[in-house]
Amino acid sequence: MRRAKSDARDDRICDLVIVGAGAKAAAVCARLRALEGSEEIVGNLSVLVVDRENCWAGNWSGAHGHTRPRALLATPPDRDVGFPYEEKQEQVRNQLLSFSWRAFLAEQKRLRSWVQKGQQHPAVEEWAAYLAWVGGRVSGRPRVTPGVDIEVALGHTVRARGIDFDLQAARWSLDFRAPYNGQKRYAKHLMLTGPGRPRTLNISVPQSGTGMKHVWDSRDMYTRSADVSRLRSKASDANIVIVGGGGAAAEAALHSAESWPEARITIVSTSPTLWTRGNSPYEWELSANPRLWATLAAEQRRTYLERFSMGAIAPLVMERLSQLANLSYETGDVTTISPMSDRVRVTIRVPWKTKTIDADVVFQCLGYDGTAVFELLSARAKAALPTGGVTDLPKHLDAGLGVKLAGVSNRLIWPGGAAERYGPGLTDLTLLGEMSRRTLNHLQI
Ligand SMILES: Cc1cc2nc3c(=O)[nH]c(=O)nc-3n(C[C@H](O)[C@H](O)[C@H](O)COP(=O)(O)OP(=O)(O)OC[C@H]3O[C@@H](n4cnc5c(N)ncnc54)[C@H](O)[C@@H]3O)c2cc1C
Repeated sequence: MRRAKSDARDDRICDLVIVGAGAKAAAVCARLRALEGSEEIVGNLSVLVVDRENCWAGNWSGAHGHTRPRALLATPPDRDVGFPYEEKQEQVRNQLLSFSWRAFLAEQKRLRSWVQKGQQHPAVEEWAAYLAWVGGRVSGRPRVTPGVDIEVALGHTVRARGIDFDLQAARWSLDFRAPYNGQKRYAKHLMLTGPGRPRTLNISVPQSGTGMKHVWDSRDMYTRSADVSRLRSKASDANIVIVGGGGAAAEAALHSAESWPEARITIVSTSPTLWTRGNSPYEWELSANPRLWATLAAEQRRTYLERFSMGAIAPLVMERLSQLANLSYETGDVTTISPMSDRVRVTIRVPWKTKTIDADVVFQCLGYDGTAVFELLSARAKAALPTGGVTDLPKHLDAGLGVKLAGVSNRLIWPGGAAERYGPGLTDLTLLGEMSRRTLNHLQI
């Protein structure tokens, strides 16, 4: 990734636009800043980061759903925006280290206490504060010339089908929701980030006879505390049903136990076992080493991703779960949810019979559909993707975690789709430094 000083360029088009000011954007921008002054960057580059929230790392703060603020980060925080710091150039490595989790703590004079307390996993709200610290430090004008101009447009929601690709002009365009609608932005390359949309049960989800909502997905359940309080004030013999058996279900159970301590909580999962991550060196290496990952057969990769990557609970969280006296489990499938006067009835198909629970609240914690980010693309932009479109895209992702569009050098980068081919570490937080190295190395700017 380098631009020659003499390159002719259209200044209205930025080199790279990143949708989502989250962990991946922070990692890419930190690397770009670290590369300033190195031979990798010859002419000035421009990068635009957009996010619908008014802050960096909104998905991690707990303020906008997805998680509760005090939930523990599943990965150790040393796996930060530059990890694993295997840069050949010492200057770049040192610059990158200045964006590390430890540098963040040191600046706040909290490093000593974190080390003395056993280097625990932080709460996600602290992780959000770390990413926001990185975001604040990377934003703005180049520090040296040539360098990187990083503009961060917070509060800018890319609208559905608002990303278009014009093959003739060889550029992406982005359109936003109000109040920024009509303010188009253009870019040579596009990077899509984020976990996608929470999966929900494939059944109709009614309100109760009182017209109240009782069923939530794993994005909005943490932002509905007012609704839950209202339900709580009406219920005497309360039941909370959590559908799903992974990390999100475990966090939902802990959240329910805190916010509604007198309720009975039932986790309904198709699997009779809740899986814990082993956190063994081999498990980490599998996530972090695409070559080792490639030695697994397709079926082994699928099982690993389902069970250990998406469906596993951190050991610390499992320990807390086992201390909840009001928690029970059902192994089965939720087949229907029907309205009652002031609750909903959840029907579960358990082996050889069905069972019902009259629930005040149902939380659906069924993982995420990562491909939902492509709902931001227009039909024309989707048509420029390799054959097979969005469904086949994970197969086409090159080592730079993206694809070149038909006949041009513009790229679409989507690390979220890389897990199946290159291992989960390039999709989640395990290997953010390697993810950013790969994506930038493959950009022709
Ligand atoms: C609750 C939860 C906990 C997780 N915990 C861990 C963990 O502990 N360890 C781990 O390795 N992985 C974890 N993951 C996996 C995690 O999803 C990925 O690691 C994450 O997606 C990586 O960050 P990202 O930059 O891709 O997305 P994010 O950091 O989620 O950033 C995406 C951003 O896109 C923005 N956005 C979305 N739509 C639009 C739009 N239309 N316009 C503009 N902006 C938009 C969002 O506001 C958000 O800020 C967790 C996922 C979830 C959902």
